[in-house]
Amino acid sequence: GTVLVSGCNGYVAVWVVKQLLEDGYTVRGTVRRESSIPYLKDLFGSYGDRFENIIVPDITKEGAFDEAVKGVDAIEHTASPFHLNADDPQEIIGPAVSGTVGMLQSALKHANGTVRRVVVTSSCSAVLTEDPDLTKSHTFSEVNWNEAAIQDVRENGRNAEPIDKYHASKALAERSAWEFAQKHKGEAKFDVVAINPPYVYGPWLHDVKRVEDLNTSMIAFYDAVIKGNKTPEEFATGGQSWVDVREVAVGHVRALQREEAGGERIITSSGPWNWQDFVNAAHKIEPSLPAGNTAYDPKTAVYHTCFDNSKSKRLLGLDYRTIEETTRDSVAQFKEKVWL
Ligand code: NDP
Repeated sequence: GTVLVSGCNGYVAVWVVKQLLEDGYTVRGTVRRESSIPYLKDLFGSYGDRFENIIVPDITKEGAFDEAVKGVDAIEHTASPFHLNADDPQEIIGPAVSGTVGMLQSALKHANGTVRRVVVTSSCSAVLTEDPDLTKSHTFSEVNWNEAAIQDVRENGRNAEPIDKYHASKALAERSAWEFAQKHKGEAKFDVVAINPPYVYGPWLHDVKRVEDLNTSMIAFYDAVIKGNKTPEEFATGGQSWVDVREVAVGHVRALQREEAGGERIITSSGPWNWQDFVNAAHKIEPSLPAGNTAYDPKTAVYHTCFDNSKSKRLLGLDYRTIEETTRDSVAQFKEKVWL
């Protein structure tokens, strides 16, 4: 079959494309710019004409994906802004929501009958609610929604917390997908799956020539683990939950393959972390890396934001990498790129 992957040049998406190609699918990837194509063509050259591209310059335009969806069997919608620099929250909420709804509308209009399923890359950002008391541990599951971020943006607009603008974009985009599925039930011959990863770490395959080309989550990893740009307090208590990018990719592909995943929202989380856990793993592998907060004791540490991953194990059969494995492979790549 043929799978459409939107934003196929991104950190997560390139791994999704690779996994699809490995599993024998033909992939049609959308990019915004022609200049994103040569690197990908080269990277996936060994798969020949099973990897094709289409340019969608603006995902917020009505009918943006009309051509892209034609004839495909399934869709992985990953394109969405992930940065914390938006002034007006609509800068990121706009493309997140209208990209998602637009993709579903194009599928309904131009591929209803061929497309069986649309997987939407959501996020644990759409799930969690930050508690100001970070000395307590919280565990979230698929029943939770990040109403607090949506409310912050509604009430405070440009003055909302930068992270809430991004979190709201993911919550609103995912919600719009479920609303669409509900509204067009009966008419649409496809169903929807949401994949909700927390912070994604691990080696990259996308085009990174300079540190600045890394995506938002890997820049944070680089700053903390490779450069040690944290206070002792932040090393010990700053963190959330994480997943290896390769599991996110497998999750996206299995979400297409497993019938019972249809209509489900699925958290793909390896587990919680504090920065010092990654720092310890990295420092052990590469003693020249920062030691961070050596007084940290993981046995007494508080993991404030945890996610229940049992549904992903049950429905997608995911088996998660450990902090040591993901750190080893990430450090090896940083080393190879000589930024250590
Ligand atoms: P990247 O920044 O590496 O990739 C983002 C992709 O989306 C790129 O293809 C980018 O295109 C495209 N994109 C960004 N903004 C727009 C826009 N306004 N219009 C059209 N396309 C746009 O990020 P990730 O790979 O990390 O993120 C991919 C997906 O995974 C996103 O949906 C993100 O929310 C989600 N996610 C990521 C997590 C993480 O920790 N990395 C955690 C949870 C979810 P271009 O290259 O042209 O800018």
